[in-house]
Amino acid sequence: MLHDAGLQALRDAARLSPDNLPLRHHLAGQLLSKGYLAEAEAEYRAALVLAPRNAEITAGLAEAFVRQSAYGAALAALEPLLATPGYPPRLGVLAAQALLAEGDTARAAHRYYEAVSRDPSVGDADLAARLSAPPAPPYPVAAPVPASAPADGAEVDRSGLSFADVAGMEAVKEALRIKLLLPLQQPELFAAFGKRAGGGVLLYGPPGAGKTHLARAAAGELGAAFVNVGLADILDMYIGSSERNLRATFDLARRNRPCVLFFDEVDALAARRSDMRQAHTRQLVNQFLAELDGVDQNANEGVLVLAATNAPWYVDVAFRRPGRFDQPVFVPPPDAAARAAILRILCRDKPLAEMDFDAVARVTDHFVGADLKGVVDRAVEAKLHQSISAGRAIPLSTPDLLAAAQSVRPTAVREWMATARNYVMHANDSGAWDELMPWVKGKW
Ligand code: ADP
Repeated sequence: MLHDAGLQALRDAARLSPDNLPLRHHLAGQLLSKGYLAEAEAEYRAALVLAPRNAEITAGLAEAFVRQSAYGAALAALEPLLATPGYPPRLGVLAAQALLAEGDTARAAHRYYEAVSRDPSVGDADLAARLSAPPAPPYPVAAPVPASAPADGAEVDRSGLSFADVAGMEAVKEALRIKLLLPLQQPELFAAFGKRAGGGVLLYGPPGAGKTHLARAAAGELGAAFVNVGLADILDMYIGSSERNLRATFDLARRNRPCVLFFDEVDALAARRSDMRQAHTRQLVNQFLAELDGVDQNANEGVLVLAATNAPWYVDVAFRRPGRFDQPVFVPPPDAAARAAILRILCRDKPLAEMDFDAVARVTDHFVGADLKGVVDRAVEAKLHQSISAGRAIPLSTPDLLAAAQSVRPTAVREWMATARNYVMHANDSGAWDELMPWVKGKW
């Protein structure tokens, strides 16, 4: 960092005139373009204080978030401007990137094409290609069975997945067994040691590494129902009825005990604290915590709360107090053996030739589960075209997967690790990120 004299001069200048908006904006832009993402984020935030609702600055902040995999935070930053008619098209493209990364392809496509129709120069060929890829097929196992739906649209789902459907991650599964499953299966044993079941587990790690998949499998392993809630969705509903939606979601889980209640993107809640509607957000955080703590001792009996985030550093400290999400569990990117196992699981219901999954695992360094799913989907699609032309089913083979792997770009594990390294090295006073230490020291 120090060797970049131009950048250092800019930093010094900005320190001397902290109210100089163009200067700070310029510094933020330079930091972003050079990949100092956390520092760029801080500069953009400071600039936004000087010029609230400035579209260019908001766009820069959102880009810094997206590149750090903090998609919920990016959407939170963009939201006030996206609600304004005629907002700058570039913001729509950024929102599309964040939405797509969160798996919300429909809304991502809507934002993207709306933006490009107004200004074709903001188009992004790579993003467009990913948006037009065929939607991911549903789980290969039984389709989810919707039960009663509360106001926010969350549904009860019994996918039938278990830990056997989660490849690798032995340490993570073991941690979840001890934290979630054993206390419920053998309450006497835990009581004997003075431990109670309860308290939430916070799964964190790079996007697409399998946090949602793991939570769903934990529910199946336990024979529990699964309720999956995107926290950003609840917040986005209607200002003012978010509280009702939260209550309805907790009630849905309580009616379906034993139940795993899964909150994705918990960082979104924290990010909203810094937005305009401070008072309202504060109230929401408080209500969330009140529901989590349970109105009375037994309110959440049989409800296991799991949360996930790509950006644990944005999660409110109030969430990490004892009895809440006091048990962070890192969901790492898969190593070669785990990648081979994930590929085997993803391909198990397809017509297959003899497969060398290890060979595919070797060329997919830095791919996470979601990327591997993309590889398999792409290979299957190509095979389907061939089979249709040939008039018979041609089985999937190793070269098909190798070819598809060439055309799939792995998501941002490297950038995620760079951000994580920043926090581990510079903001780890409490030791919260110790678990990440060996990972961020690795080569990415
Ligand atoms: P995250 O919630 O961390 O963003 P997901 O759980 O949505 O990631 O993972 C994306 C997809 O990748 C899952 O739907 C699943 O098909 C696949 N996947 C990820 N990890 C694994 C794994 N360990 N074993 C099998 N499939 C996996």
